[in-house]
Amino acid sequence: MIAVEQAVPLARLTTIGTGGPARGFARPGSLAELETALAWARERALAVATVGLGSNLLSADAGVEALVLRLGGELAAVASDGQTLLAGGGATNAVCLHHARTAGLGGLEFACAIPGTAGGGVWMNAGAYGSDWSKILIRALVVTATGSGWLSPAELGLSYRRSSLEHGQVVAQVEYRLTPRPPAEIRTRVAELVARRKATQPTNKRTFGSVFKNPEHELGAGQILEACGLKGHRIGGALISPMHANFIENAGGATTDDALALLGEARRRAREEYGVELEHEVELLGPIEPPA
Ligand SMILES: Cc1cc2nc3c(=O)[nH]c(=O)nc-3n(C[C@H](O)[C@H](O)[C@H](O)COP(=O)(O)OP(=O)(O)OC[C@H]3O[C@@H](n4cnc5c(N)ncnc54)[C@H](O)[C@@H]3O)c2cc1C
Repeated sequence: MIAVEQAVPLARLTTIGTGGPARGFARPGSLAELETALAWARERALAVATVGLGSNLLSADAGVEALVLRLGGELAAVASDGQTLLAGGGATNAVCLHHARTAGLGGLEFACAIPGTAGGGVWMNAGAYGSDWSKILIRALVVTATGSGWLSPAELGLSYRRSSLEHGQVVAQVEYRLTPRPPAEIRTRVAELVARRKATQPTNKRTFGSVFKNPEHELGAGQILEACGLKGHRIGGALISPMHANFIENAGGATTDDALALLGEARRRAREEYGVELEHEVELLGPIEPPA
């Protein structure tokens, strides 16, 4: 048996702090518990969605008709074996990085400013500073209601900020290939990257990271939106960050609909003023569509 809570607000599970209730919510702490949770949902013909730290998620205000899982226990643990770092899908990047540094393993430093989990990183091939999950991932254990298997980066379809994973496929464990590096060097590099982030992005606000992927254009998404004069533009409780225009902040009482309306306005302006079709990077959960 695994405890399934009813009507847990997703606003509690997302960094932007919006989202209505999940039909069911469970925290499997082992592969056996994960399998039980998946079977529970299957018996009820209920969809399954896994959340990590909810740092790239907008979920419907009306709620989500699914069993939402957050991995814990063994499925959030981290260990190393030689140059391989073994992490549960729910292990946070901060804990993985700490473990890697202690073990004298480099290569994960780029993830220091990505406030997510190993599984969330695989899902969207998260990346920064010229690296991403596809460059360090050896394989990931993907579990579904009908079986499980280890998939390589190619089998996971990792490309720029995407994978071919679908809800119901749970990344339960990952293996990273890292390289020996003195802990002091890792510490210095991480401090540099964190300082760079703090200088340019609203890291102390409630956001879901970059709203849009960078388009094939000489300007990045944030530069285009800034040039459109959108910094500080507000709809309801959602605000285009005055610090970086590719971020939406929860400025107080924001809803997912507020954030989506702002996202739609930003897309419209980029299209009209720059002829650029921006593609959203944030993941949408539940019955919501980004405005055209
Ligand atoms: C301040 C800030 C800075 C950020 N900077 C970056 C950056 O530099 N680069 C970058 O790429 N991203 C960045 N992000 C976005 C986000 O942190 C990353 O996308 C991160 O990898 C999301 O991980 P998560 O565990 O929080 O996933 P969530 O947001 O919880 O989920 C994202 C998607 O992954 C799925 N998912 C999560 N865990 C699993 C799992 N175990 N198995 C199957 N599916 C799963 C979810 O269902 C959802 O579809 C930033 C976000 C913030 C708030």
